[in-house]
Amino acid sequence: MSQTIAHAFLFDVDGVITDPAEKKVTQKGLIEAIAERLDSDEVVTLNTGRSISWLSEKGIFRELETSVKDKSKLSNFIAIGEKGGTWQAYEAGTWKNHIDESIEVPLELQDRIRRLIEERFSDLMFFDESKLTMISTEMIDGKSITEFSEKQKDLVEEMNRILLDPDYKNLNLRIDPTTIATDIQNAHVGKHLGARKIADWIQSKGIKPEHFITVGDSQSDTDMAEELQDDYPVEFVFVGDPEKLDSSRLHCPIIFTKARYSAGALEYLKSL
Ligand SMILES: [Mg+2]
Repeated sequence: MSQTIAHAFLFDVDGVITDPAEKKVTQKGLIEAIAERLDSDEVVTLNTGRSISWLSEKGIFRELETSVKDKSKLSNFIAIGEKGGTWQAYEAGTWKNHIDESIEVPLELQDRIRRLIEERFSDLMFFDESKLTMISTEMIDGKSITEFSEKQKDLVEEMNRILLDPDYKNLNLRIDPTTIATDIQNAHVGKHLGARKIADWIQSKGIKPEHFITVGDSQSDTDMAEELQDDYPVEFVFVGDPEKLDSSRLHCPIIFTKARYSAGALEYLKSL
């Protein structure tokens, strides 16, 4: 038996749920507005490159748990981390963590990159120990993005050299440099993988959303809408700088909010 609901939400986290600079939830009323959606039987999901333990540290699960009126409604919530590699869901009254065993990076490679960061890049970057299925190195909070991006070029070059090592070169690993991070990941992970896992999860629960609302602040977030737009009724809500968005691959409706980032996410939820 299938149950029709109005909306399923797929939220990016950095810059949508959390403030991009402060890296935590700062928007008053946002988690409450999300909890209201769960209380009215809708589906809420997160799709991020962050680790599940990072989300937990930021108090996102705890706040959600205290904001819903009926805790059993959390069964319609799932958080996908590490670009599809890990996830946390509320199952049988408790949080359960999962990992995609098919996605991993070798321990020796992790050690090599950790050493590289410590020896040559530790003035600007740190090695993210919380990741389970990928390697993530990040800019230290408060450092200059200009200085970071300059040094990031050296890091990417060094990483490229290491990935040519016979032990690694057939593993299908990819380097993903972003504004504040440089990742080494399995070539098939990404926002599209997270979105696909979310859609399959919703389907497995027998839930039929009338609208799949994907919400993001970066170009890579369009991958969520692109992945699902041919199979489901999808909308893309963009809360970042509209001038920086290339929407040429999307043929679903695109909504721009007046407010940016998490204020934009709240503005959109209130408009429904
Ligand atoms: Mg983001």
